[in-house]
Amino acid sequence: MTHAQPEPTAGEPTAAAEFVVTNPHGLHARPAARLVEEARRYDATVLLREVDSGTGPVPASSLSRVATLAAGQGARLEVSASGPQAQQAVDAVVALAGESFGEAGVPAAPPPTVQPTGGPLPASPGIAIGPVVKLEEAPPELPEGAAGDPATEREQLESAVSAARDELHRVRARAAREVGEQEARIFDAQLALLDDPDVRADVDAALGAGASAARAWDSALRLVAETWERLPDPYLQARAADVRAVGRLVLRHLLGTAAATVTGSGILVAEDLTPAEVAGLDAAAVRGIVLAGGSPTGHAAILARARGLPAVVAAGAAVRSLVAGTTLALDGTTGEVEVHPSPDVVRRLEERAAAERTRAETALAAARAPAVTSDGTEVLVGANLGSVADATAAGAAGADVAGLVRTEFLYLGRDEAPSVEEQVETYRALARELGGRRLTLRTLDVGGDKPLPYAPQPAEDNPFLGVRGLRLALAERRLLHDQLEAVAVVARETPISLMFPMVSTVDELAEARELVEKAFDGAEPEAFEVGIMVEVPAAALKTASFAPHVDFLSIGTNDLTQYALAAERGNPAVAGIGDALDPGVLRLVHEVCHGAGDALVAVCGELAADPAAVPLLVALGVRELSAAPGAVPVVKEAVRRSRATDPDLVRRCLTATGPAEVRAILSGH
Ligand code: PEP
Ligand code: MG
Repeated sequence: MTHAQPEPTAGEPTAAAEFVVTNPHGLHARPAARLVEEARRYDATVLLREVDSGTGPVPASSLSRVATLAAGQGARLEVSASGPQAQQAVDAVVALAGESFGEAGVPAAPPPTVQPTGGPLPASPGIAIGPVVKLEEAPPELPEGAAGDPATEREQLESAVSAARDELHRVRARAAREVGEQEARIFDAQLALLDDPDVRADVDAALGAGASAARAWDSALRLVAETWERLPDPYLQARAADVRAVGRLVLRHLLGTAAATVTGSGILVAEDLTPAEVAGLDAAAVRGIVLAGGSPTGHAAILARARGLPAVVAAGAAVRSLVAGTTLALDGTTGEVEVHPSPDVVRRLEERAAAERTRAETALAAARAPAVTSDGTEVLVGANLGSVADATAAGAAGADVAGLVRTEFLYLGRDEAPSVEEQVETYRALARELGGRRLTLRTLDVGGDKPLPYAPQPAEDNPFLGVRGLRLALAERRLLHDQLEAVAVVARETPISLMFPMVSTVDELAEARELVEKAFDGAEPEAFEVGIMVEVPAAALKTASFAPHVDFLSIGTNDLTQYALAAERGNPAVAGIGDALDPGVLRLVHEVCHGAGDALVAVCGELAADPAAVPLLVALGVRELSAAPGAVPVVKEAVRRSRATDPDLVRRCLTATGPAEVRAILSGH
């Protein structure tokens, strides 16, 4: 790789230290971006060198160069610096390394070669048949002929880079709000590349030599992407896609061309999709999604369900090589994917799709009516909300309540916590959109896996087992205090249920209840209710101890499943094990219903959205189901086909040997 910028020749280093890279995939794009961001903060020239291989030194301010160290997990790096703030810079980088560059224990995405077990897996219900389409941009047409004078070309490039930066910030904020800060961080690496001094030096040299802005930018980014593709680590090789994406983004602004779109309409096939990509898909063009990787509880799948897009995930590496135009059929309810489906398969799936459509239409027509079982018990069907737009959709879909408001959407992707006033306004807006129906506000549910810049936590080896959910809220009293203040205001105006996430002990609940009492000055309105989420297996087994202190218990089957089966919810390699219909998980649900006494039992995890599971949940004793807004009508229909008393169904499912047997029992039900 020839770079126009000479190796840094700043004075002799006056500070140096060594550290070991602990990140599971080494210094891949996100941790490297964090390192670069930190190194750029100081008035110092900071260099990095791989101690064992002697690779480097490279400037720590350049993401494109840091990546070329190909520093995998366990690599020993030397950081050295010269300049007025040399020591501070070295100390800061070493401290950051000690926190695994903000990724401590965070489940890193698996390398692209991981073959998931148990796939393909159903991720979002619905049937789609059509040609394979890919999310691609037309290759930019670089201008032929003579460039303008270097100053004009440089100016044009600067304004394109600035527009690209604004666009990335917008996408990042949206991804952080809609899905999570952790996912949004992928955009940090792309932002760092925009200002990469090495890339800029290459671009400058090319402009000086008479190249156009587009050609100078294109060749500099191409060089970085090709270098990354040659790195030995497959994970870093795959990150070359980020470099190419940034390259295209700036060219798009420079040349005034359109954003990446799906050309034609059909089934989108991809390795994985970022939350922002799923959120931005044109539903008129994309009829369904097949991902080589991903997991049914991953955020791409959650968003696909939220958007009503049929999806199958963990379909394996083979789907990646399907060329555009290949006919594909998918059933997001069963996980079936057929390449070149025969006319018989197409007919069968089309019939199933037509039946599903009729069912959905009938369901929507009846969505505003209560859901009453065939033996006369009403089951509330609510919606899970992560934005005000969700509340609008929930109102239209006939939700009886908001069974889960993921209030984190107010906290993530920003530098300061939301004020009490902002929270009050947002909760009021949710209530308005839902026509005053009950809102179940979950207190802030974040932790090491979704860190907040204004509530920094020490690094944890296992953040899913660490300070998250109610544990973090009790540790960060200021945040909980403000949130409870806002809840106390809104609860005097509209029916509010408050629930605490990831509760493990009765003591934690007692502590939280005391704070609630203080926030209300001991005068809680009649309609105000307090409950807990049951996400920890031990809490499920202790339901009878919690029950006297709560009005309701809401089972978070997503987390309960990952903890009960020791199968991390975002890890596609164990997605086949982390199945909420595993009889082990169902027995925990049974325990909760059994021990709840007068407290209402709800389910607000993804299992509540599975119409096949509804008769079982209702027969177990669940009396509120909360799902993505779009699923509300179908869940109501499923309730109407259920019986509140069905001991035979319960017995057969609880004694089944595995989730496949449970599914077979339910489909024959
Ligand atoms: C759950 O864990 O099931 C749940 C509903 O909470 P979240 O998905 O937000 O963790
Ligand atoms: Mg949860």
